[in-house]
Amino acid sequence: MSSVETVRGPVEVDDLGPTLMHEHVFVLSTEHVQNYGDGSWWDEEARVADAVAKLRALGAKGINTIVDPTVWGIGRYIPRIQRIADQVDVNIVVATGLYAYEELPHQYAYRGPGLLLDVPEPMVADFTADIVEGIGSTGVKAAFLKCCVEAYGLTPGVERIARAVARTHVETGAPITVHTSGPAQSGRLALDLFGKEGVDLSKVVVGHAGDSNDLDYLMELADSGATLGMDRFGLDLFNPTADRIRTVAALAERGYADRMVLAHDSSCFIDYFGAVHDDVRAAATPNWHYEYISDDVLPALREAGVTDAQIQQMLVDNPRRYFARSRP
Ligand SMILES: [Zn+2]
Repeated sequence: MSSVETVRGPVEVDDLGPTLMHEHVFVLSTEHVQNYGDGSWWDEEARVADAVAKLRALGAKGINTIVDPTVWGIGRYIPRIQRIADQVDVNIVVATGLYAYEELPHQYAYRGPGLLLDVPEPMVADFTADIVEGIGSTGVKAAFLKCCVEAYGLTPGVERIARAVARTHVETGAPITVHTSGPAQSGRLALDLFGKEGVDLSKVVVGHAGDSNDLDYLMELADSGATLGMDRFGLDLFNPTADRIRTVAALAERGYADRMVLAHDSSCFIDYFGAVHDDVRAAATPNWHYEYISDDVLPALREAGVTDAQIQQMLVDNPRRYFARSRP
């Protein structure tokens, strides 16, 4: 048997059940919240209660697990997630890594091989501690690694983060989710770097691959062994739902259902819109919520010819394979 760490502790991979492979609970800048939100648009208790309600509603739709790739850069704060996890049945799997499109945080800029403080790569040490010992003093262990390779490509900072993620994967066996740009097709750059670092590409999800409808690009990624994150359902600004459906159905028809996972990349609250969060979300992205796949996308996929067995692969079997450890 193989188990995966969740906020409430280890769960057998066979018990993960239907899983959304890329959902945030919160996307925040801690500094934004502390300086501008506290006392105005950020109400800690209300937002925790709202998240509990949204995750309970998702669980009632039959989703058993969410995989939350929120790391440093978009506000990971595990004590808040623990409060929520304690009140819901849905498993929450959390990550380590760094979210940066171009630059390394200053906190790593002067520490590392050949730098002012000439020490082994500190990111590898930090990511590994999150996986092996737990995050801070929470006792919660990260189960996977997250980094970004955006349209800017492998800038020096992004490359250093990606290599640290790759090396932590090689040392710990923890799988990787990499945020990529569908339009810029940066998934190629990420997989190429991971391949050179000895990453098992069957343990990589190419996040936001589903923002692209270029089947040749998507099949090329999947043929490497990696899994395609068809993970922004409801975010029509980046790719309309109808096109996302057509792309998933076309790939399933070509035999790639074992290389796709589903999600919304949604959240209960994202601080990009400050005080008007709820209004903007309702007006601009009405379908960008946890329940859209259950309510609308799965019926549309079936209508487009995707079988129940293929949906089972994308929601259950592929997440189980991703988290099953190939080593003890
Ligand atoms: Zn995301």
